[in-house]
Amino acid sequence: MTAGTERVRALFQDRFGGEPAGFWRAPGRVNLIGEHTDYNEGFVLPFAIDRATTIALSPREDRVVRLVSTFDDAVVETDLDRAAGRDFSGWTAYPLGVAWAFGEHAVDLGAQRGFDVAIDSDVPVGAGLSSSAAIEMAVAVALDDVWGTGLDRTALARIGQRAENIAVGAPTGIMDQSASVFGQRDAAVFLDCRSLAVEQVPLGFDAAGLVLLVVDTKVEHSHATGGYRERREACERGAAALGVPALRDLTSADLARAEALLDEVDLRRVRHVVTEDERVVDAVAALRAGDLAGFGRLMYASHDSMRDDFEISVPQLDAVVEAAREAGAVGARMTGGGFGGCAIALLPAADAQRLGERVTALFAERGWRAPVPFTVIPSEGARAL
Ligand code: ADP
Ligand code: MG
Repeated sequence: MTAGTERVRALFQDRFGGEPAGFWRAPGRVNLIGEHTDYNEGFVLPFAIDRATTIALSPREDRVVRLVSTFDDAVVETDLDRAAGRDFSGWTAYPLGVAWAFGEHAVDLGAQRGFDVAIDSDVPVGAGLSSSAAIEMAVAVALDDVWGTGLDRTALARIGQRAENIAVGAPTGIMDQSASVFGQRDAAVFLDCRSLAVEQVPLGFDAAGLVLLVVDTKVEHSHATGGYRERREACERGAAALGVPALRDLTSADLARAEALLDEVDLRRVRHVVTEDERVVDAVAALRAGDLAGFGRLMYASHDSMRDDFEISVPQLDAVVEAAREAGAVGARMTGGGFGGCAIALLPAADAQRLGERVTALFAERGWRAPVPFTVIPSEGARAL
């Protein structure tokens, strides 16, 4: 048993008594490339990380649901009828929202049994690694097993997204959940956000002696909500002006035409999305060809595009990427929605600690909040243990 499994087992026994029927585990994720492409129906390339949510769960004979998390010691007691009526509050909206969302997938919630669940996670919350998708997908694979629903992984990802959109009220895409359920060791998840088609792409980081360093800049996403809305609106205007359903339907050959139809700012927003989609496709081809250097160049190009065209970077994110470039990293870029959060760098394992220290020193010199550097390993997706 892993430490996480021991912790949830102890919590389960302490609060509910007895052995749980089983353990399930689902990871967080990091996005390698493909930013602000999801809502434009384009491409993303995340991977599942080696930090995960572990749950212990037992079905009950009645319709009661009891939940407890190592985050918050109090047991929350409710039932499936309240979940079906979308009566949620606090963090339990994530697991109960998942139970509710099964009802949208030919699952008769009125006929299901309740459950006891204990939850533990080592995915840092709000660091851009999707602790939310990890909890959703751990509960989704567990309920799929104990309710015997037999849904496929795309349906489970969709259930997690619906829980987040409807129960929690966060207007997110399906990338995080897809990465969490489709992850594999040393592989990325290439997701087409229009068709939801998924392909696992071997990364070969391990064989090349490379690791992915994540640097959490600790910059809060203070402009994130307004900035995100403005970017989405610019993309919608761009697609409408060019007469396509989504920016996904354009290529860089269309940009000359876009120049005549859009103002200078919208043109740059559109150019980011169109070239970013192409970079994701090129990145997959580079990985398949074992061309990690080419892949790294696309990471740097993606960062430049987010900094200059999409304008969602901040000085701290740029500083991490510049330090990585100076350290000779294969590639680096900001990751996530922007205006703060994390940057990533792909580099030889032996150099990762030094880059972390360099960045920490640089932030101190500039009077910025101390960053948190750590490495992540592409790992297996959601599963029963
Ligand atoms: P992130 O970037 O980590 O996904 P979110 O705001 O989307 O940040 O999700 C974090 C929220 O998910 C937490 O505030 C909490 O409500 C819920 N959550 C995540 N993991 C757990 C857990 N192990 N136990 C209870 N709630 C959790
Ligand atoms: Mg989240």
